[in-house]
Amino acid sequence: MACTLLVTGGAGYIGVHVLAALVEAGYQPIVLDDLSNGDRRAVERVARFTGADIPFIEGDVRNERLLDAVLAHQARAEQPVAGVIHLAGRKAVGESVADPLRYYDVNVGGTVKLLRAMARHGVRRFVFSSSATVYGAAREMPVTERHAVCPTNPYGHTKLVAEGVLRDVTAADPGLSVAVLRYFNPIGAHPSGLIGECPQDVPANVFPYITQVAQGRRSHLAIFGDDYDTPDGTGVRDYLHVMDLAEGHVRAMQHVLRHPGLLTVNLGTGNGISVLALVRAFERVSGRRVPYRIAPRRPGDVAAIWADAGMAHRVLGWRATRTLEDMCADGWRWQRMNPQGYATPPEPVPSGIAARAVRGRRTVTSLVPLLGGHNEVGRV
Ligand code: NAD
Ligand code: UDP
Repeated sequence: MACTLLVTGGAGYIGVHVLAALVEAGYQPIVLDDLSNGDRRAVERVARFTGADIPFIEGDVRNERLLDAVLAHQARAEQPVAGVIHLAGRKAVGESVADPLRYYDVNVGGTVKLLRAMARHGVRRFVFSSSATVYGAAREMPVTERHAVCPTNPYGHTKLVAEGVLRDVTAADPGLSVAVLRYFNPIGAHPSGLIGECPQDVPANVFPYITQVAQGRRSHLAIFGDDYDTPDGTGVRDYLHVMDLAEGHVRAMQHVLRHPGLLTVNLGTGNGISVLALVRAFERVSGRRVPYRIAPRRPGDVAAIWADAGMAHRVLGWRATRTLEDMCADGWRWQRMNPQGYATPPEPVPSGIAARAVRGRRTVTSLVPLLGGHNEVGRV
């Protein structure tokens, strides 16, 4: 029987790609997400193109009763949760500046409550979404995991505090196994075009903004600064394909299932790409123009940061394999096929994409209402 993994935040951008990678690798994911920034239809689409049953629980990761109910339900059903991939969290830097308590509550409090529930149910394998933002303005490039950490905003502080919690609980319990994944800049989409990034508001990140400009939904991209000390003056980041990132989670979970202790690892390509280079690559691949204007620097931005991705390769055997062109082509396909995001009726699954045959039935199941005393898995 497939090993069952709980994926919090599994209805979000990275989460749905992680689901696809987990199913492909033979795992059974179950999703817990409060849908504050995710979309249940995204999980349904993954279930559809993989042919997998993906139980979905709508709920808050800070709800300990719900966490207990889910973990107990799985144990009773003889499909105990073997590990947790914890992606649920808030991620908007500006919002974190305006409402830091919300960020500490969800990103730190949610992690603590999840770890406590896991301890009560004997679940001891954990993969955590951290961020390169913990490095702040890095002094040496590429950034290794040993580089000093110094976040420059409340969002980054919450990730660093959560990392500290994980360091301390792993030190206290040698049987615990944790991988902290410091993501660089995930962009792009699953090659099927069926799942991708779906910002609820004006995109705060550069790549979804570019795709919306190319689609004609926005007039132009504002490039935040062209006077940085970088080859073309625009900011440099380490963009990686979201499916490479998703596969990194599979490798990390395989690692924690075998090795106790704490691993902190960068997930990036090791290449720095400027905003202008990203725009040019996107224009080449899509055949669309992306008009832009140079705007003032965005407060809090660093000039350049990219990963030393060596540890991920050495320890996890993981390396990003997809190119910048793949990221642009797959991100553009998603945008083109889904101009209204998940509200767009999905096109048929392209042949050769799915790991398994599409069985033509709804495969997302629901575990709710677990708290209402019903424990059966009901079809939605
Ligand atoms: P996202 O907002 O698309 O996904 C997060 C998911 O968590 C959403 O589906 C949301 O509904 C859910 N969620 C939020 N609060 C919750 C709560 N209290 N209980 C249950 N579910 C909750 O973001 P994403 O880009 O997929 O990011 C996933 C994780 O990766 C986040 O922790 C984020 O901080 C981290 N991360 C993202 C990036 C990036 O560039 N996207 C970079 C570094 C780290
Ligand atoms: N950026 C930009 N215009 C935008 C959004 C971002 O020029 O509308 C730049 C930003 O200044 C940075 C790079 O694009 O140099 C990546 O920003 P993003 O917000 O995507 O990711 P971050 O690295 O800040 O997490």
